[in-house]
Amino acid sequence: MTVAVIGAGLSGLCAGYELSKKGIDVAIFEKSGIGGLVSSYHVNGYHIEKYYHHLFRSDETILKLISDLGLSSKLEWLKGTTGYYNNGKIYPLNTASEILQYPYLSLFGKAKLALLVLRSKRKNIEDLDNITAKDFILNTAGKSVYENFFEPLLKSKFGDEKDTVSASWLLSRIKIRSDRSPGGERLGYLKGGFYLLVEAMLKEIEDRGGEIKKTPVNKLIIKNNKVNGIKTGNKFISCDNIISTASPIVLNKITATPLIKRIKYQGTACATFALKERLMENLYWLNIKADLPFGAVIEHTNFAPFDDYGEHLVYVTSYFNDLNNPLWKMSEEQVIKLYLSGLKKLFQGFSESVIKWWKLARNVDTAPIFETGFRNKVLPYKTKIRGLYLAGMFSLPNYPERSMNGSINAGSECVRNILEDEFAERKKC
Ligand SMILES: Cc1cc2nc3c(=O)[nH]c(=O)nc-3n(C[C@H](O)[C@H](O)[C@H](O)COP(=O)(O)OP(=O)(O)OC[C@H]3O[C@@H](n4cnc5c(N)ncnc54)[C@H](O)[C@@H]3O)c2cc1C
Repeated sequence: MTVAVIGAGLSGLCAGYELSKKGIDVAIFEKSGIGGLVSSYHVNGYHIEKYYHHLFRSDETILKLISDLGLSSKLEWLKGTTGYYNNGKIYPLNTASEILQYPYLSLFGKAKLALLVLRSKRKNIEDLDNITAKDFILNTAGKSVYENFFEPLLKSKFGDEKDTVSASWLLSRIKIRSDRSPGGERLGYLKGGFYLLVEAMLKEIEDRGGEIKKTPVNKLIIKNNKVNGIKTGNKFISCDNIISTASPIVLNKITATPLIKRIKYQGTACATFALKERLMENLYWLNIKADLPFGAVIEHTNFAPFDDYGEHLVYVTSYFNDLNNPLWKMSEEQVIKLYLSGLKKLFQGFSESVIKWWKLARNVDTAPIFETGFRNKVLPYKTKIRGLYLAGMFSLPNYPERSMNGSINAGSECVRNILEDEFAERKKC
């Protein structure tokens, strides 16, 4: 059996890792960075993810993988402090006392918020798939909690689609983020970056004879409703099975006829700035309630130790919903200029002279929009075409929010499906 995997993100790498462990002939094709959304920049002797990443304690599969790959000694549980910018001021919101001091929610509002969190923990996520997050919050905690707490968060995460997002998505976030000790939240990170995980998977695959090819797949070759091979450029490569981890939009483009129902995706424009000075005092993650060109500021070196990098690393980021968005259409320099104008409004006295370097990562397929009814849009691993399988951010382990853990589960579940089908075929013969 030969398998071609489209995409070397975590879904594709995990599929390649599992297949190569079984001695199956596998080649992974990647059009841009190995690691996909978890790929990294290599600067000044260190690696830093192009998009901010961390783990939660409940991410069991990836934690086991980290251990299996001998990386447990690199795993650290670091304080993930958060704050909220509202009306010209930053409010840290980590401990109960900080939350009590937050002036934009009344005591009654805070009690309602606490009740919403408690109720959410007891609810079955899938039961709320047809209710919008907005309606769920309004019905459970009221207008003030919605407007002063959740609405800016939903806006920064989903932009114009904020009112379409399901309560299932909201609940999954509340469940994962409210699992914290009185001292605040601890988040997982690999000392040296998730680059180490990507490299370790790559090495395991290559050591067992698997191949990684840095080239895009531009056509799937299907004959008599069965996979025959793929095309990269004009080159035909024969294979029995394909696992596509690309978004459905891309997959539909590279098959002769559209295969899959449309899932709405959103893009991200994430700038990384290396600064000579710290930007925020002891704050990792800043949510923003203000009219600014970005939704969050994330100071990585207030999370991972500054000494691991020797410069202050800050992400400034925004999601966008369509290809006409200026964040997608503008040049990199224009996006950076726009973000800098926002930083100057946010941090009085911020000067460009503290910037050592910047980079911008942009991608249109960074997350499905988990709108109401999304549960029915989750794509199965098997398709109607024999030998064509799917795994990625659209698979069940990534519902109702995508994650590194979800993509690793999707990759290995997909391989389990291929092996079952192969076993069934052999039994027939
Ligand atoms: C801003 C941001 C922050 C995030 N933060 C976190 C976090 O803190 N914790 C967490 O757990 N998760 C986080 N995630 C989510 C996590 O990164 C993803 O869920 C996961 O990495 C997705 O992996 P994947 O392999 O399914 O998809 P991808 O990483 O998108 O991989 C798909 C790959 O397919 C390739 N491809 C597409 N078309 C072709 C083609 N025709 N030929 C060849 N290759 C192709 C793409 O280039 C890509 O590399 C974050 C994501 C973003 C965008």
